[in-house]
Amino acid sequence: MTRVFNFGAGPAMLPTAVMERAQQEFLDYNGVGASIIEISHRSKEFDTIINEADELLVELANIPDNYKILYVHGGAQMQFSAIPLNLINRVSARKAAYVESGNFAKLANKEAARYGSIDIIASSEDTNYDRIPAIDAASITDEHSYLHITSNNTIYGTRFQQFPESRDIPLVADMTSEFLSRKLDINQFGVIFAGLQKNLGPSGLALVVIREDLLEHALPDTPNLLNYKTYADKHSLANTNNTFAIYMMKLVLEWLKEQGGVAALEQQNAVKANLLYDLIDQSDFYLGTAQAEYRSTMNVTFHLANNDLLDDFLAQALDNGLYALKGHRNVGGVRASIYNAMPLAGCEALAAFMQEFERSNT
Ligand SMILES: *Cc1c(COP(=O)(O)O)cnc(C)c1O
Repeated sequence: MTRVFNFGAGPAMLPTAVMERAQQEFLDYNGVGASIIEISHRSKEFDTIINEADELLVELANIPDNYKILYVHGGAQMQFSAIPLNLINRVSARKAAYVESGNFAKLANKEAARYGSIDIIASSEDTNYDRIPAIDAASITDEHSYLHITSNNTIYGTRFQQFPESRDIPLVADMTSEFLSRKLDINQFGVIFAGLQKNLGPSGLALVVIREDLLEHALPDTPNLLNYKTYADKHSLANTNNTFAIYMMKLVLEWLKEQGGVAALEQQNAVKANLLYDLIDQSDFYLGTAQAEYRSTMNVTFHLANNDLLDDFLAQALDNGLYALKGHRNVGGVRASIYNAMPLAGCEALAAFMQEFERSNT
């Protein structure tokens, strides 16, 4: 068996040690004689798993006491509906402010417009989202129930280096493609959500970290299983949750802790990303897609100056065990997604390949 270096944007690679552990205990979880996916979400084994997942998240992300951790069905985009359903009625004007820094941000504000009136207070659409747009603080008013941002723009390879000052307007952040890749002050946020499949585990489930006082504003018509309060009251087990995804995430969190936690990963992620960005900046053969000051450490996007070589680049990369490097169709070119689980060796292999490809094509 050969494992490739998987640069796919999501579902994305998970640490090999985590995959091996899951494989080892798949048929017989902890001596039960059944798999974790075959036993009740109310079993004592699963109860231990979900409690440990909570504890690890509190420790790794430094989550204060006045926040709740929820595991919500439907992945990240389901939160594009859940966020307005739960929050847009916080202020009677039923307005929310959105920063449009990419395609997922756009999908989020379109969905929210079904439930209230949306102000797009900043957008970088005019330059195909190659930057985080500047935000005028005066455009965020007390009529806004919340301010929504996409902290890392997976498709375009940009991220907020600093988060906007929103006074007492709750800041809501889609952190799907970067949660636990860098240190955060959770107190800056009202809600953080992340689909698991980029940095945390399998697809189909979202992690939601929400300040407790924000659980009280859901619109009356909110479906029970989209109401964050249901999840908070029932420890995310109002119905049968995705037990396997929560179990896998717990293994990923244990692995993260063994690596030294978020601070250690943040350093490692910077080393990995800079290896690629330095190479891109030193070459005329490769051109970075995102403006340098907004570059993501999770998704590195670039073009070949001669786009006719792209198919060759991708095919030869694959022959070299470098998988899923094709850029998103909205951007073209190449995208290397290098989440926490991508080892430095993967970025070194990609950098070596890029140098060799440049040499043999100039
Ligand atoms: C991948 C991604 C999504 C979509 O996640 P789904 O779980 O497929 O709904 C949303 N936002 C961001 C920032 C993403 O990277």
